Amino acid sequence: MLRSDTHRKFRFMGSNASGGVLEDFYAAFRPLHRSYWYALRISVLVAISFFKCEKCGNCCRYSPPVFREEEAKRIAKYLNRDLEELPLERFEQFSRVYYRAEKPCPFLTPENKCSIYEVRGTCCRAFPHEWLMYGMVPAYCSAVFKALKQAAKFIKEHIDAIRYAIDVMQEDLVMLARDSRFKEEMRYKEYRPLVDRLFSILGEYK
Ligand code: SF4
Ligand code: SF4
Repeated sequence: MLRSDTHRKFRFMGSNASGGVLEDFYAAFRPLHRSYWYALRISVLVAISFFKCEKCGNCCRYSPPVFREEEAKRIAKYLNRDLEELPLERFEQFSRVYYRAEKPCPFLTPENKCSIYEVRGTCCRAFPHEWLMYGMVPAYCSAVFKALKQAAKFIKEHIDAIRYAIDVMQEDLVMLARDSRFKEEMRYKEYRPLVDRLFSILGEYK
């Protein structure tokens, strides 16, 4: 097992305390395939199937959002304000990207609700799936911990079927490698059909 790449590629963000969850998940998925990325991506699809947001608001509290210019404009229009009036700053190097340096997100309400939910950006919609797909685990999201735990158990119990699914889904898994977080399309939408496809293939496996 290529244990040495655990901490290089797959890591907790915001804390070093994994409580063994990270190690268990890694130990479950790494033997699936000689390609780390195929093994990781298929395992993250399994984890997404178990993920259930607990609506604690921690992601909005600890990970300030980043918006593309089109998204920032959409938010301004929704709030009936000018772009410059939004509580956001502009990256100097990337003038078309807006972010919030301070925490929590200014659009988070005291009730842990998103006040711009209908028009929130891709980075909000894709959380935490996108992080996981890139081998990052937000340490403040307890729902992710639970999903990884359940996924590790599931992968161990269905390892041959998941190996078969990797063969069938290779093109899909390569597609997930596109390194373009701020594309026009909201990538999070791509995960659910893939999760459904994975479980349909697993169901067919004899
Ligand atoms: S931190 Fe996780 S559980 Fe909490 S609101 Fe965000 S996604 Fe949901
Ligand atoms: S815009 Fe909404 S979903 Fe995104 S971080 Fe802020 S409160 Fe959370």
